Amino acid sequence: MVEIPKSHPRYWSLYYRERIIEGMEKGMTAKAGLIAHGRGEAFDYLIGEKTIEPAERAMRAAVAKFLLAKHPVVSVNGNVAALVPKETIELAKALNAKLEINLFYRTEERVKAIAEELRKHGAEEILGINPTKRIPGLEHERGKVDENGIWKADVVLVPLEDGDRTEALVRMGKFVITVDLNPLSRSARMADITIVDNVVRAYPRMTELAREMKDYSREELLGILEEYDNGKTLSDVLLHMRDRLTRLAGEGIWRRKELE
Ligand code: ATP
Ligand code: MG
Repeated sequence: MVEIPKSHPRYWSLYYRERIIEGMEKGMTAKAGLIAHGRGEAFDYLIGEKTIEPAERAMRAAVAKFLLAKHPVVSVNGNVAALVPKETIELAKALNAKLEINLFYRTEERVKAIAEELRKHGAEEILGINPTKRIPGLEHERGKVDENGIWKADVVLVPLEDGDRTEALVRMGKFVITVDLNPLSRSARMADITIVDNVVRAYPRMTELAREMKDYSREELLGILEEYDNGKTLSDVLLHMRDRLTRLAGEGIWRRKELE
């Protein structure tokens, strides 16, 4: 990995860029994944590169749903394996969920490379290596899912997901949770719960929440879900962006070193 000076004002952004490039070099991340990452970065600028309140709210609801699930599954793709391999395993463990490799650009080599990376970080059971089922309405490679994973799951977390597949999963009757920095994307609009945050911030926070909430009663968890409104969350994200841009425009950004 290219060494980035810690003193660089954009250190973390450059660091994760290098991680994505490294993911591609390891055969995990697709070329299109690099482009998707760039789109994510752009939206991260708009929210202010921090976890905003609507995302925190969505994460609490997502964790509540997971803790109530019968067959919860956390899906892993090439970008996620490059950015948060260890955090994905910790999150799945904290949520008592199965891990499934599920790729938009599925090739056996990429599946193998991702499985290897996950094992290196301590994953035991990894689903999606020999998927035998297909999501109805999606063509062959894009639709493959594991019989013991997404196929029978009631709740699925599909981060950085394609909108068409998100919609197909919703049509199958799955409760779909996504992490997507773009609140306008089709996935963001189709999911049952949309966490508009960078996956590198969202996963550690969700793991924390899972550990904190695992002793909540069923009633408490159901109450959190009852109160949750994904439409309102998405609107609040848009309003956050608007208000922030309005404020920054008023304050002025020219030659300003830091933005809040
Ligand atoms: P669609 O409208 O079909 O959902 P899309 O814009 O979501 O398309 P994809 O490439 O399928 O495009 O999905 C990648 C999504 O993941 C993008 O919306 C992008 O904003 C988001 N994304 C990229 N990197 C991250 C990240 N690190 N954390 C969270 N979201 C990210
Ligand atoms: Mg998407």
